[in-house]
Amino acid sequence: MEKLKRVTLLKEERNGGRGVPDIVTIIMVQGLATLVQNVGKVGKASGTFARYYATPFLRAMGLGVLDLTIPYSWDPPYVYRALKDFAYRTGLPRAGLTSWSYKMITAYLRSGQIVTLPRGGPDLDPQVIWANVTHKCLTNKQKDIAWMTAHRCLPTRTFMYRQHLALTERCPHGCTDSEHIHHLFWECSVARRVWGLVCSSVSLSRFLPRSSLMAEGVLYGPPGGCKTTVLQLQWIINIVKQVLWETRNIKVYQKTTVDLITLRRRIQNLLQDGVMLDIHTNKTLAREKWGVDHWKELVI
Ligand SMILES: [Zn+2]
Repeated sequence: MEKLKRVTLLKEERNGGRGVPDIVTIIMVQGLATLVQNVGKVGKASGTFARYYATPFLRAMGLGVLDLTIPYSWDPPYVYRALKDFAYRTGLPRAGLTSWSYKMITAYLRSGQIVTLPRGGPDLDPQVIWANVTHKCLTNKQKDIAWMTAHRCLPTRTFMYRQHLALTERCPHGCTDSEHIHHLFWECSVARRVWGLVCSSVSLSRFLPRSSLMAEGVLYGPPGGCKTTVLQLQWIINIVKQVLWETRNIKVYQKTTVDLITLRRRIQNLLQDGVMLDIHTNKTLAREKWGVDHWKELVI
């Protein structure tokens, strides 16, 4: 078990992002959540078992009352003692949790973790940036690209060249500059044309006002987080980023230049996918968010 502890893993603290998953903690939280759940089960063997061993220490956390007519174990087996120690060590009794579910306990433990940005990151709140890059309005692919962008480990030519995996760091689209993240998503001739397309499209500029299109906002998301629907809509910037990254990969691996009409169609398809997904989840909210009744209505 010792090998699985966070400290023995390769990632150092303050090296960006949240900590790597700690298997011991995950098992402990699962055990504790199941125990609390079982204590509430009436008329079941698992409930009786849990109450017999765990009520003496759970009642100190406000999770049970002693019934003096039934027996309890005041010296529970080591598994229960380990769970008790874990709860007190992590300060859970004083956390004021409304529910002792796995999700809530994990959320509380995560909130106490040190969250940092890698060196060279922007002067923004790291919590906001990591929340932005893993926001639920993004698809998994977009999360990957946004996460690698924030970590500055997107395999652009500059990154690959530094790792001795590419012969040149020049932009594959023929620019004179090297292909770093800022260039790829912002300064590149292709990127400029795509952002121009975004600004000239009436339906896209409805979602993306010009003020939201700043280099830092494109790379790391809204500085205040994606709390409102308007801000979540602005984060469709990631669709453009995905298209730019795909275009770049087609250029590198297939030596083909993608024309602007295809780029436009790809952005539109991805947007329609997003609308379709939202409509599937909640039709009314999707209608309010996107301003359309059907995904086909969203044309750029
Ligand atoms: Zn370029």
